[in-house]
Parts: sequence; C-alpha cells; structure tokens
Amino acid sequence: MKFEILAECSTTKARVSRMTLHHGPTILPTFMPVATQGTMKSLTPTQTASLGITLQLNNAYHLLLRPGMEVLDKAGGAHKFQGWKGNMLTDSGGFQMVSLSEFAEVTEEGVLFNSPFDGKPTMLTPEQSIGIQHSIGSDIMMQLDDVVSSLTTGPRVEEAMWRSIRWLDRCLEYHRTAAPKPHGNAQTIFAICQGGLDPKLRTICCEEMVKRRDDSGLGGIAIGGLSGGEEKDVFWRIITQCTDELPRDRPVYSMGIGMAEDLLVIIALGVDMADCVFPTRTARFGQAITFDGFLNTRSRSMAYDLRTIEEGCPCPTCSSGMTRAFLSSIGGTPNAATAITLHNLTFQARLMGQAREAILEDQFPAYLKEFFPRYFAGDKQGIPRWCVTALRSVGVDLQPGVEVEGKKLGGGD
Ligand SMILES: [Zn+2]
Repeated sequence: MKFEILAECSTTKARVSRMTLHHGPTILPTFMPVATQGTMKSLTPTQTASLGITLQLNNAYHLLLRPGMEVLDKAGGAHKFQGWKGNMLTDSGGFQMVSLSEFAEVTEEGVLFNSPFDGKPTMLTPEQSIGIQHSIGSDIMMQLDDVVSSLTTGPRVEEAMWRSIRWLDRCLEYHRTAAPKPHGNAQTIFAICQGGLDPKLRTICCEEMVKRRDDSGLGGIAIGGLSGGEEKDVFWRIITQCTDELPRDRPVYSMGIGMAEDLLVIIALGVDMADCVFPTRTARFGQAITFDGFLNTRSRSMAYDLRTIEEGCPCPTCSSGMTRAFLSSIGGTPNAATAITLHNLTFQARLMGQAREAILEDQFPAYLKEFFPRYFAGDKQGIPRWCVTALRSVGVDLQPGVEVEGKKLGGGD
C-alpha cells in the first residue's frame, strides 16, 4: 500500500491524499459504502463502480456465512466472486459475531460465540480472522478487536484496549508468517484504536500505534469504539485527539460515520475515511439525501411534484428525469430502492468530491460555510451546536458572534 499526501488545508486539519491499494488508487477523504452481504443492496457492482466509487466495505462475517470460505477460495477471492474490480475493505467479523450471537464471551485467546452454522460454541481468534480475510482477498483487512460499546465505562474499557493491542500484534504476526497466503502481500491491515471516551486511555492507545508505525503490515489506523450513542461533543473531541496523536503518515479511518455533517466535521478534524450503512439503508425507506437536506419521497406532498430529486444532480435517477411524483408512486418497490440508492451514493460521492476539491484549492473553510447553512436551512434546530463548536476548534466559525458552551467566540478558538 502506498500513501501520498497531495494537499493540506491551511486552516483546518483536513487533507487530500492518494491511497494506492492492489485494485488501484482511491483519493481520500472518501466515504465507503457498505456492501453488507457481498452486495451493495439494490445495485450491481457495475452500477456502484459507475458512480465513481473505488472502495467499498464488505462484512467478513456475512461472506463467511454465504458463500463460505470454500467457494471464495475456489473463486480466488471476493472480488472475482462478486465481479467487483475496485478496492475492498473488510471488517474482522468479530463485531457481528458478538452482536448477532445469543452468547458471546471474550477470552484472551479470542471471541467465543455460538456458531451460526450449528449453534455450537466456536472460537474466533485474531489469526482466524485474518485467515478468513486472506480467503476474501480484501485490499484492507481490519484487525480483530475487543469491542466494547462507547457507553461502557470502568475497567472493562482499559482491558479491551490492551487486549485489542495484543490482538493487533497477533494479526500482524499471522499476516507476516501465514502460508499459504492466496493473495500474497497484496493485502494490508488496519489497526483499531480503542480507549472509549477516556482521553487518557486514547493517548496510551495512540502511543502504542506510534510504536508500531514501522511495521510494514500496518497500512492505516481506525478510530473504533465511537458512534455508539455517545454525546456528539464527546465524539468530536476524541476524534480530534486521535488525529493529533496518531501517526499522520497513513490514513485515519473513522468507523460507522455517514451523515453529511458528521463527515465534513471529521474531515476538518483530520480524518481520511469513513463508512456507514445509512445512505443505502435510508434509500430503501424512500429517503433521499440532498444538499438542501433530506427528502422523503414517500410523503404525500411528492405525489404531484414533477421535479427530480435534486436539480443538477448527475446521478442516473436525476439525470434520466425521474420525477419525485414517480418515485412516490412506486414507493416501496425494488425499483424505487435502486433509484434512490443510486442518488444517495452519488450525493455521498459528490460531497466528498467537493470537499476534496475545496481542500486542493485551499478553500475548505469557505466550502463549510456554504454547505452548513444550506443543508440545515429547512431544519427547525438549525446547524447542530456541536458542529459549530467542533469546527471552531480548527479555526472555522460557522456562526460568528454566536455563543456555544457559554463562550462567545469570534473566529476560531
Ligand atoms: Zn440524483
């Protein structure tokens, strides 16, 4: 894996970079759509690629269940199995095994859970997790980590952090020494930084990541243990702390983030990659995302609305002239799901593309000041206060003179 920084914002911590993986370059910052069961729901791989998407996320757990390792090995990996020619990131499978199993216990050896195949207790070790991802052939493999909810407190958070570091070392060691390795050294591992909402633990974990920066198997670092219902003001402070303390010579990935405002804030705080099921899932419920906020195509008011979802949108749905009234009339059908998924993924890609362009031209603060008021214009609450506070911390003031957290600030703080 090759990582080159192309431009850095002179105000915020945002940057544009080129990450070259086995299936080609991906320009960061980027949003990775989630292809849950090896498929982007409602789309073919060709349709996904046609939107300019070069990196997507697959779930190792789902691929393990269906089609299973035997078929993947026979096919030569998930790319060939699915007909996906772009880059692929897979999670370790641990999170879903724990969350979907009626019983799961974490031991030093690995995660013990009920097998989805026969219900018998089964162990998933860090080594097995990388072995599964070797069969999948994903360009980026995630380490197995000891997952705790972001709302967990006390000694369990520290225990999980240290165990995740030990498991990272086991993953790296296994990747280095495993034989046979069907995809050679084409794959890279991303670590997951844990430590919950405790800044001291985060510092320790970031220091451990810095110690491993010379390991050639370590491609990038994810910030885990967030977006689990914690306060947004706590969320962004942990993000900005991690981007300050983690090595800046490789990509930083914030897991489970996909709302437009969250994406722009974390980019300003120095994050390079994010993923979320939200844009595709919400599309299946008829909700379109636009630069003017959300549009519910199933609302009654759409029945006579002959505009497209979004004027000027280059997606196949809008550019074909499909009307809101039509989408409303076919609401709930697979056709509507496909049409809105195409639009929503195009929105995510345009948002990221515009952000990259603004950073390249060193106009990112101006872009943020243009995006936020428009996107939240129809929202009674207006721009979320945490976005204002977070962006002020990196020198961008969306609401000059307006107090947040009892402090009146002009310009950045
Ligand atoms: Zn569109």
